[in-house]
Amino acid sequence: MSEPILDITQSPHKKAKPDPEHLSFGKVFTDHMLTMEFSRDKGWHSPQIVPYEPVSLDPAAMILHYGQTVFEGLKAYRGADNQILLFRPKKNFERLNRSSDRMSIPPVNEELMLEYLKQLISLEKDWVPAAEGTSLYIRPFIIATEPNLAVAPSYSYTLMIILSPVGSYYPEGIHPVSINVESEYTRAVRGGTGTAKTAGNYSAAYKAQERATEKGHAQVLWLDGVEKKYIEEVGSMNVFFKIKGEVITPELSGSILEGITRTSIIEMLKDWKIPVSERKITMEEIHQAYEEGTLEEAFGTGTAAVISPIGELHWEDKAMVINHRQTGELSRSLYDTLTSIQTGKLEDPYGWTIKID
Ligand SMILES: *Cc1c(COP(=O)(O)O)cnc(C)c1O
Repeated sequence: MSEPILDITQSPHKKAKPDPEHLSFGKVFTDHMLTMEFSRDKGWHSPQIVPYEPVSLDPAAMILHYGQTVFEGLKAYRGADNQILLFRPKKNFERLNRSSDRMSIPPVNEELMLEYLKQLISLEKDWVPAAEGTSLYIRPFIIATEPNLAVAPSYSYTLMIILSPVGSYYPEGIHPVSINVESEYTRAVRGGTGTAKTAGNYSAAYKAQERATEKGHAQVLWLDGVEKKYIEEVGSMNVFFKIKGEVITPELSGSILEGITRTSIIEMLKDWKIPVSERKITMEEIHQAYEEGTLEEAFGTGTAAVISPIGELHWEDKAMVINHRQTGELSRSLYDTLTSIQTGKLEDPYGWTIKID
């Protein structure tokens, strides 16, 4: 593909880079960002890279009132030989378009967006940290900008991509966490917006997360919104269980976000000839396996943590300790292999990584 036309305005002053030893998540941003506009008559237009700066919005901008917005999250890794790698980025733009479709936002050209992203990362490549476990977090998002209080899709939108150097999810090494199974609040229902990365899903989850935190747990395990029986996700991660050698993850029921890490883990397990199934699974089944001693491992999957092992599950008055609160053998190999592919330490047998020049 020929280089797409992208206007670049260089920032006149460059910020000091943060201390790579003390990076947190999403608090520091790079010198530039990408913006692109949508209008009814022009469609998506005027892609440009500009200095990172606050945005100006009309107080009646529709995003501020009805939350018409979508986002994505992916990472650029600095790997062996100083190369910069993206992990399956095309999938993020495909999912952005699926989220947008659900939220009545017009689709973007996925190939073009990937080319723009590569140019942005290339310009900001000095911001991709090198320390073990660190990366440059990439946040594409779209907001409805039309000044209009009518409850209807906006006529105009702004897409932005901002970049943030982030620290390791596991500064002390991968370790299992305690989970509260949420029996009252619901994250999503079939037919709702759970399959879309859209803002309201996340703020609506704070209440349950606060409750889990109060009880001393790290995350919430979400059950289906109708029967409160079937397992859906953990925090904002997909969830996997290993029972008697079989790996099970909830099927995409219409209220679960289709994680790219989830897809990759399923593909790796199939490649490794480990039985894996996507099906409905109830909390009752997990508890029964626990009682029988066949619940071997449990873990969440997502871009931020890659693999987050579950050491304890608290469901109503029942407490289940999984694998003596130790990271399971399979969880560990999946984590090691996938992170090594993402950082180029291991040759990528699947063609998942893309190099940035
Ligand atoms: C983003 C997200 C995930 C994980 O998706 P990845 O593509 O693996 O990062 C899972 N669940 C929810 C609710 C999410 O928002």
